[in-house]
Amino acid sequence: MRALAGTVPGMLVTDLNHFVGMSEDTPGPARRLAAHLHDIVRAATAGDAGTAWETALPCRRRPGNRRCPGRMIVLRTEAGAPIRWHCSVCDDEGVISNWEDSAFDLRPRQLALAEPVSEIVIPDEVAAALRGLQLLDTDCERLVFAIRARDDHAILTATDDDLDELIGFVAAEANNEPSRRRQQRLDAAFDALTTATQSPDAW
Ligand SMILES: [Zn+2]
Repeated sequence: MRALAGTVPGMLVTDLNHFVGMSEDTPGPARRLAAHLHDIVRAATAGDAGTAWETALPCRRRPGNRRCPGRMIVLRTEAGAPIRWHCSVCDDEGVISNWEDSAFDLRPRQLALAEPVSEIVIPDEVAAALRGLQLLDTDCERLVFAIRARDDHAILTATDDDLDELIGFVAAEANNEPSRRRQQRLDAAFDALTTATQSPDAW
């Protein structure tokens, strides 16, 4: 079997090409690692380039069976250079190459108009629920993966139009969600976002 990841001491060196289109019989750990790398690429390409920033993505490690409380800090410089990532708490770190133009590359294809944006503070669970949305268009996916970590919360940066669109996706998915538990998470996300639209002067 081909090794999925090379190692430099302490660093996970990955080529995204090895983590796309995995088959059904791929073992769980490899699938979970792939999902983790996909989320890192989405975040790194959704957010600013050239500066390291702390995403709302949780660390995958569970030292002593307890979830590491850290979040992923990502750095994307330019196409052709690997995306770098590391945990804000533990020493988990790595690089991802060949992310350009993959299905997880959320770099905008055109310049966005400079509209006023609001910063909306949301709980981590709401950020996770938004990342789990299945029907998002690329613009909304970019918003969701650009969510930053701040203290114990997550910060969504969006224009009023962005927010309206995102709320539409949440509502549509909540209506069609058969799982009661997931529906409750989506309802909580819906409430958090609609509350934000009703208090635009809070920020
Ligand atoms: Zn960690």
